Amino acid sequence: MTTSPTPALTADLLGALSRLVGSRWVRHRPAELATYAADGLPTHESRPGLVVLPGSRSEVAAVLSLLAERHVPFVPRGAGTGLSGGALAGGDAVLLTLTRLNRILRIDPASRRAVVEPGVINAHLSQAVARFGLQYVPDPSSQTACTIGGNVAENAGGPHCLKYGVTTNHITALEVILPDGSTATLGSPQGEPWGPDLVGLFLGSEGMFGVAVEITVRLEPTPRDIRTLFAEFTQLRAASSAVSAIIASGIVPAALEMMDQSCLEAVEASIYATGARTDAAAVLLVELDGAPEAVAAEAAVVEPLLRANGARSVTVATSEPDRARLWLGRKKAFGALGRLAPDLAVQDAVVPRSALPDLLDQIAAVRDRLGIRISNVFHAGDGNLHPCISFDRRDPRQAAAVVTANREIMEACLAAGGSITGEHGVGSDKREYMPRAFQPAALDLMCEVRRVFDPDGRANPGKVFPANVCREWRRGDRQ
Ligand SMILES: Cc1cc2nc3c(=O)[nH]c(=O)nc-3n(C[C@H](O)[C@H](O)[C@H](O)COP(=O)(O)OP(=O)(O)OC[C@H]3O[C@@H](n4cnc5c(N)ncnc54)[C@H](O)[C@@H]3O)c2cc1C
Repeated sequence: MTTSPTPALTADLLGALSRLVGSRWVRHRPAELATYAADGLPTHESRPGLVVLPGSRSEVAAVLSLLAERHVPFVPRGAGTGLSGGALAGGDAVLLTLTRLNRILRIDPASRRAVVEPGVINAHLSQAVARFGLQYVPDPSSQTACTIGGNVAENAGGPHCLKYGVTTNHITALEVILPDGSTATLGSPQGEPWGPDLVGLFLGSEGMFGVAVEITVRLEPTPRDIRTLFAEFTQLRAASSAVSAIIASGIVPAALEMMDQSCLEAVEASIYATGARTDAAAVLLVELDGAPEAVAAEAAVVEPLLRANGARSVTVATSEPDRARLWLGRKKAFGALGRLAPDLAVQDAVVPRSALPDLLDQIAAVRDRLGIRISNVFHAGDGNLHPCISFDRRDPRQAAAVVTANREIMEACLAAGGSITGEHGVGSDKREYMPRAFQPAALDLMCEVRRVFDPDGRANPGKVFPANVCREWRRGDRQ
């Protein structure tokens, strides 16, 4: 095994980075680099030139200053759970992994704020604030692994974002190290809006605007009452109609999630089993929260609506372990699906809720025509679909079928008035669809905004923008 860095990045750079963060925190051996060659999406791979794990924000700033001086591109990375190939770096680039910056710096229950470093794991924050009767609402299903920094960069969602909003609604201030190594504070802890919304601009910037090193989050009181309903349907369309009927009733549940039969079969065969019958065509998980009287009143509307739209059974979780079991089945569904085949490609798109029944039919048609297994588990209340394709990438026929299926599903979602991502971002995976989703003038504006933060396009190059749409760092640009 060689110990030299890839040819594109010099031994001199390796030495300089080691002096800044300590040699233990610079990874350069091929086996070490291989660990960082993918995120949660198996269809994209790229081995970084070097991996650096700074231990403090001043080290992040020093590393970025050095890389700016030497005109080297870089890619920020959190836990690497992303599902769009966003946190991947090429051999010319340095991967900046932020998992050592994992401290919760302050919790202020009186003003309902917490200040965290970017490598804090989402679920750890919720656990830490629970003793104050507070919660950090955005709860991606990956919350036991993904970082708040990654959530900020992807503007992550989660089951409970239907009622409470996605990450952008829960961040009030950011401290950011810009690609030239300088520091900028965006927003304010109070979150009072004045001037341009720079925090909003940074949210969802997918590592292209710099590195978030300190994040002030809004906390919400833990709901006084929660009711979780689990409905089984014998027809997929009926479950989709129930989703529309609930929203049309004026009630916004805390969460409204769907799993189809293929997904349910995988979940029930795993350690995450909910106890549902696997002959159901679909199940809905509906959670209501708030004051006890309000929850009771909403449940009195939702349960009959589920039955009126064809639910063959509706069960209500009667204890916290009961509720936890239902949520485990939903949140670990990707894990259960991962047992079906060597690879699982989780897709992400969003459509108007009213289009869900037709879209699910179209996904089934793609599945049948291409002869692949596609399971659906998704945030139905938001119209945010996640078709999950089980495959074996070593089989060229299956690998090609995944590419075709992804393209056809994206086209169907766009044709239905939807968009190419609901929460997982564009990354490497969706960049070629951007011109179909956005007018050239809008793409130009995005590119201009990016240049304000990163004039030489060194931060996460090769993502989001299709080739040649946005001028970025290229090999040979080195000054
Ligand atoms: C099982 C599973 C379930 C999931 N469920 C959901 C879900 O319900 N909702 C949802 O939205 N997503 C979900 N995801 C996707 C993923 O977990 C989220 O996108 C998450 O926000 C990524 O966080 P991360 O720390 O893993 O970031 P990474 O994957 O490491 O990085 C993601 C992006 O963020 C950038 N980045 C990371 N840290 C920083 C930083 N500090 N500053 C600037 N840029 C940064 C990277 O460059 C990259 O572009 C799921 C993934 C898995 C595997």
